[in-house]
Amino acid sequence: MTHVVVSGCVSCKYQECVSVCPVEAFREAETYLVIDPDECIDCAACVPECPVDAIYADYDVPEIEEYWIERNENEASRLEVATGESPILADE
Ligand code: SF4
Repeated sequence: MTHVVVSGCVSCKYQECVSVCPVEAFREAETYLVIDPDECIDCAACVPECPVDAIYADYDVPEIEEYWIERNENEASRLEVATGESPILADE
């Protein structure tokens, strides 16, 4: 099992989830994060940190968001580890 980032993260500036992850499972795309299922230990520490409720356990992902399960898995391998240090979008 793993946790999964879903569409609510797209264009999101918040990265509080990254700093609480004990295994550096978050990966950073241009406008969103994903979780590497090979790293995630299902601790759920990141879930309450997300201000837009965009993180779910894989068995709990809403049906309309289920395509994100594969997306997290596929994209994690080609993305860098998220640092959480800089906003994804800096439009303020
Ligand atoms: Fe990291 Fe735990 Fe969230 Fe998995 S569930 S991404 S291990 S904080």
